[in-house]
Amino acid sequence: MPRSLDNFSIKQLLELDACTRCGACVEACDAYAETQEAGTAPAARLQESRRLLKAEHGLSWLARLRGSPAVSDGEWQALAKDAFRCTLCGRCGSACPVTISLRDLWLSMRQELVCRGLYPEKLDLARDAIRQQHNVVNYPNEERAMWVDYMAAAPADGYQRPTAEMVYFVGCVASFSPAVQSIPEAFVQLLTRAGIDFTILGEREYCCGFPLLAAGMRDEMEALKRHNIETIRQIGAKTVTFTCPSCYNTWVHEYGPELPDVELVHSTQLLARLIGEGRLKLKDSALRVTYHDPCDLGRNSGEYEAPRRVLEQLPGGTFLEVQPNRAQGLCCGGGGDLEIADPTLAGGMAGRTLGAFEATGAEVLVTACQQCKRMFQAARDKRGAGIGILDIAELVLRVSEETGSDGAS
Ligand code: SF4
Ligand code: SF4
Repeated sequence: MPRSLDNFSIKQLLELDACTRCGACVEACDAYAETQEAGTAPAARLQESRRLLKAEHGLSWLARLRGSPAVSDGEWQALAKDAFRCTLCGRCGSACPVTISLRDLWLSMRQELVCRGLYPEKLDLARDAIRQQHNVVNYPNEERAMWVDYMAAAPADGYQRPTAEMVYFVGCVASFSPAVQSIPEAFVQLLTRAGIDFTILGEREYCCGFPLLAAGMRDEMEALKRHNIETIRQIGAKTVTFTCPSCYNTWVHEYGPELPDVELVHSTQLLARLIGEGRLKLKDSALRVTYHDPCDLGRNSGEYEAPRRVLEQLPGGTFLEVQPNRAQGLCCGGGGDLEIADPTLAGGMAGRTLGAFEATGAEVLVTACQQCKRMFQAARDKRGAGIGILDIAELVLRVSEETGSDGAS
């Protein structure tokens, strides 16, 4: 029996008919470039989504004439197999000449597939971890701020204060993954150097809900959102800052309407501001750097310039722009829960994209996302050598002047 079309907006149902089959999205898709499998091509997924929905719901005159033929479970299962082999990077939608919002369509289709029980089992593990531990990696949430214990000169309060002007929302991956805990370590030192009144949340921080949104399990994130908003209110923060673009994007779009009086700012935006105001002073460095636009910061949040303002201000440094960049920037393979659903594909995408940065001749690939850094580090280490990889907070810490009270390790 046909289900309702509640997971799709009217706009999306109309967009299904707007596709001209030009193939621009297929050219743009890094997942398709890696697999070369027809099912991962975004145009093919859109066409198949349209065919199944129309056949099941009798939306076309032909279907009505034939009496809405049933769609087999196997046809939906085939679509489901490919729907989760996608990073939700949005590169397809950026390339679409008729401006179909493909990323939104993929999210709605995942919700539809979850309603039908057709999704990778491993996503259940991530959902259960978030339900039980409040983080996606299934560690005890009391250990969320353990990275502070490894800092050489952290303050006695471990950066956890009862009230503060600013909250630094660290995110699950940077909190728990040893490969990228250097990012929050660097960022808290920079906030301290700039004289900002801030706190981290420690175990009071719950997953922002992004992995659930990406999995098509939007309903599951409401309790997390309520908790995180309540915590920000208790602290009385006027600003929440993020080194994770996916947390930032989720807060802006999902939490923002309920926090009109709170500024939500990504680390790149904050660092550009602090350097511009002279609150962080940079030393001379002869580094040649390039920059990767994280999908959830660039294409999906529209922030391309703040990181470039930081990198172009490096005294004595050289900024080498990668091609393509900004809205056409390549994907690290680590988004959209792909690393959970298909880690081999995710790793392959990271390796392909890393090559473009190595071709710039830069010594250091700078990014502004812990997941991008993890993916590129793993791809480089698999080859055994290659370009240095730093988050922008780590780079700025390396070239900023010490104040003597920043907990530098
Ligand atoms: S969102 Fe990215 S990975 Fe997914 S279909 Fe579009 S271009 Fe491909
Ligand atoms: S780029 Fe847009 S119009 Fe062209 S095939 Fe893809 S979805 Fe269709």
